[in-house]
Amino acid sequence: MKPFFGANWKMNGSWPMGLSWLQTAKSLAVADDPAQIVVFPPFTLLPALSEDAREAGIGLGAQDVFYETAGAFTGEISPSMLVEAGCSWVLAGHSERRHILGESDQVVRRKLEAALGGGLSVVLCLGELLEQRDAGGQESVVRDQLSAALAGGLPDDPGRIVIAYEPVWAIGTGRIATPEQVSGMHLHIRKALGGMFGEASSPVRIIYGGSVKPGNSAEILAAPGVDGALVGGASLDAEGFLSIARSARA
Ligand code: PEP
Repeated sequence: MKPFFGANWKMNGSWPMGLSWLQTAKSLAVADDPAQIVVFPPFTLLPALSEDAREAGIGLGAQDVFYETAGAFTGEISPSMLVEAGCSWVLAGHSERRHILGESDQVVRRKLEAALGGGLSVVLCLGELLEQRDAGGQESVVRDQLSAALAGGLPDDPGRIVIAYEPVWAIGTGRIATPEQVSGMHLHIRKALGGMFGEASSPVRIIYGGSVKPGNSAEILAAPGVDGALVGGASLDAEGFLSIARSARA
């Protein structure tokens, strides 16, 4: 499987910024690179950027989705609406949604299943709080999040799921996990996936997220078990983010 790099813009960006970001991607011809690159702008920019993303060879994803298909759910967006807006990917269970907006494991599971059922591929985000790591509970926290989200099984094409290990204490804080911490958790997740689904889980990529930037990405990407990165703050700078993605080997 190709390494996977996601640019999560969070609640940032504008139409001109998005067009210029994708213009940079086109000029760097990233479509020819060995990595799979997906950009996750805010909802409002998705239709406006979809054509340029396609021309640049970059996948388009949304940062969230609702689990119902239609109806009286004010403010929510369904999987088919995202597909119509040009998306092929969506994030599920990002820690900012779990911890600021109160999303439970059950809600994350429903979103993941609705997204897969609606034809989207999913980056499932998992990660422990600092106090959970300090108490030595990080592996069980992440295993519980993983098994809750994937309780319904893997899709027929398991490559449609990417797991992002994102320790909450490293997101947006400038504090990056050590390569040993990253590798240890990625191998733990790989083993847990194997225990749940056996060999069928091998196409699932496991990527790291948490304060990745051009100056620190090389040692994280070189750590055993790391199949790419989900980048937040540093992804707003197209050249910086794309330099991270382009440093990956197939
Ligand atoms: C993220 O939003 O998934 C993330 C990893 O953010 P940052 O790179 O800013 O820590």
